[in-house]
Amino acid sequence: MSRANGITIKSTRELDYMREAGRIASQTKAVLKDAIRPGVTSRELDAIAEREIRSLGAVPAFKGLYGFPATICSSFNEEIVHGIPSRRRLEEGDIISIDLGAVVGGFYSDTAFTVGVGRIDEDSQRLIYATEESLRLAVEQTRAGHRVGDIGAAVQTYAEGLGYGVVRQYVGHGIGRSLHEDPSVPNYGTPGRGAQLRVGMTIAIEPMLNLGTWDTRVLDDGWTVVTADGSRSGHFEDTVAVTENGPEVLTA
Ligand code: MG
Repeated sequence: MSRANGITIKSTRELDYMREAGRIASQTKAVLKDAIRPGVTSRELDAIAEREIRSLGAVPAFKGLYGFPATICSSFNEEIVHGIPSRRRLEEGDIISIDLGAVVGGFYSDTAFTVGVGRIDEDSQRLIYATEESLRLAVEQTRAGHRVGDIGAAVQTYAEGLGYGVVRQYVGHGIGRSLHEDPSVPNYGTPGRGAQLRVGMTIAIEPMLNLGTWDTRVLDDGWTVVTADGSRSGHFEDTVAVTENGPEVLTA
């Protein structure tokens, strides 16, 4: 591992650990998507995720980190991120965002998705589609020589063009031997500005789009971040490596 302006550059061997951590997180996402239906609790989903990650030989990335009590973050409807799994049951018409990560050989992955529970309203469907699409546009910018501002501008231009609020208080981040490393990767910005990307850098890109405004607040549990106006929110995240051949999504 070396550094460029405080940002870690991974060796091939280190990148292989991150690929494995990404593969395990991705497989866990698939298992969770199969389990999501009306009636299941978020705590049951948490248990499924922990069992899957450990059975694949990895360690849950979030459990115990900064004092977070669970393997997944589960955020319902107007909850944006950092929801704590509970006995709350998923209901038809809800949307739920699940965020999780795995650690292999000391290296982290981090990924998230939003999905509808049963039949959901059209605004929520469009929000989910747009959030995933904004991540795809951001990944497309994740190339050597580009800057962090190119990533943020890709999300912001697309999402604000559709009238969504782009969350500002929470941002993507470098990732590697720690879950959160430099640089910060905001979902807004100016093309050509910010830290420059180099081959071997790995970042977690995580657009959070709201049906209403971008403003947020934290619930009394000290963790759950919700939209200030109570509107619904979508969240997608991938861990992405900058390679000589362009972006490599490790959590696809
Ligand atoms: Mg993250």
